[in-house]
Amino acid sequence: MNKKSFNFILVCILSIAFQSCSKSVDSEPYLEQLLDKKEILFEEISVQYGTAVWNLYSDEAEADQLTPRKRFQKLFSNDTINTLIDRWYSKRNNISNRELRRRVELWYNILIAAKVNFDEEIFQLQNELEVWLTEEDSLPDMPSKEELEIMTTQLIHLRNEKARLLGYSDYPEMVLDVTELGRDWFFDFLSIIDSVTLSPYKKLVAKTLETKEEIEYSDVRQWIMDYYIFGFGPEIESEKKLILLKETLGNIGINYDQLPVKILVRDLPPMVGGQGIAVRIPDDFRIAVRPDLDFSGWMHEMGHGLQWIFTNTNVAILKGYEWCMGNDCGAFSEGLAETSARMINNQKWLQRHSDYNEREYIESLEKMKMAFPVYLRKQLMDITEEIEFYRNPERDYHDLRNELAKKYYLVDKPLTRRRSVANMLYVSYPVYVQSYLIADVISWQIHSTLEEKFGKDYIFEPEVGKFLKENLYAHGELYSWQTRLKLATGKELDVEGFLKAFGL
Ligand SMILES: [Zn+2]
Repeated sequence: MNKKSFNFILVCILSIAFQSCSKSVDSEPYLEQLLDKKEILFEEISVQYGTAVWNLYSDEAEADQLTPRKRFQKLFSNDTINTLIDRWYSKRNNISNRELRRRVELWYNILIAAKVNFDEEIFQLQNELEVWLTEEDSLPDMPSKEELEIMTTQLIHLRNEKARLLGYSDYPEMVLDVTELGRDWFFDFLSIIDSVTLSPYKKLVAKTLETKEEIEYSDVRQWIMDYYIFGFGPEIESEKKLILLKETLGNIGINYDQLPVKILVRDLPPMVGGQGIAVRIPDDFRIAVRPDLDFSGWMHEMGHGLQWIFTNTNVAILKGYEWCMGNDCGAFSEGLAETSARMINNQKWLQRHSDYNEREYIESLEKMKMAFPVYLRKQLMDITEEIEFYRNPERDYHDLRNELAKKYYLVDKPLTRRRSVANMLYVSYPVYVQSYLIADVISWQIHSTLEEKFGKDYIFEPEVGKFLKENLYAHGELYSWQTRLKLATGKELDVEGFLKAFGL
């Protein structure tokens, strides 16, 4: 070996030593490198999971959701990632790279939720319940309805227990935390809606009591229908839905034919109207819809797709895959989906695309506003009956619902329909239902901003698509939902403005 090559080798050794020194376990480069590695796996499993969900609806291949779930379970219970995130989360404000800081926050949320949702006992019980609850035929070894209810209640007990071990008062509090809604903000939000809607609701009840002796749940249902008739938009013939969807997006400058979207119209499992599935973000989005799903449902699912397709990041954890709790804020995603659906309730849109009649429109709008406090109280009922059951899982679910019906609907008679606690929503999408109420406010707020910026005819303004992409879709999960909303609309969630806009 001559001296030159010896020197060369020495330099190499020193530089390797220096590199590994700069990537010591406590350094940002090490953190980044490890997250990069884990996120490659994370995305691969997410794609496998999305494909399984698609197969469930399309029957193209076996819908194996269990394998990716087990892989997620293994990834999230890995010691290296847990130790690293724990160490960095507490000092995350010192991380100089903003993107890296956000990745730590998202990983932290995911790992917290995974400690409960992927706990072996919970994981097994949830999987078992999902098998039985999606089974259409009754099989010989299938548990009875009562047994399924006992199993679901047990699942709820276990979720609470695990969440308490992490320092939360119960499971819903953990969900509100990892989805970044925050417990204090959230319960304030609910109490504002409750207090503002109570007096107009009482007036509606008083008026009804002029003609009958007592108010029943059937009255409440009728009011809610009045809201939905308007809220669902016009009826569109099946063969026109896709054409109209393309046209509606085209009007705001988004060319549907250039999007990586596949739509499948097919009978779906019970309780599923439609689902938008991000198989791979941003370039493989698919929608499965039942043949009878209304057009508003089509626009909603497409809205989910716009968010994912126009997400402009290569960092997997920032793309907002929805399969693991804590990776995104469901309420915000639903808000963006509803922003798309809300387009078809716009008066100008209706004038152009439906057999619009001014008098009927005004009448229907009036009816909707009358029913609006009832609709909001129904949302409060749906949200709190789940949360209250987590707080009191030993109580009879039906009694608990009757108590809440008294509070929100002022109905003394017991509810005629019994709802089973053993339902897919509670089992597979726990503490998610509040997303839709928050989504109503978010989508209203975004539309108000669009109108302010682009004028009354904003629904036909090609710049709107660009605005949505740049201000709401592009960042992915880089910022919290509150920050994204503020960037786009200049305000935090404007609950007061929303209620005022509907006469409250
Ligand atoms: Zn949705």
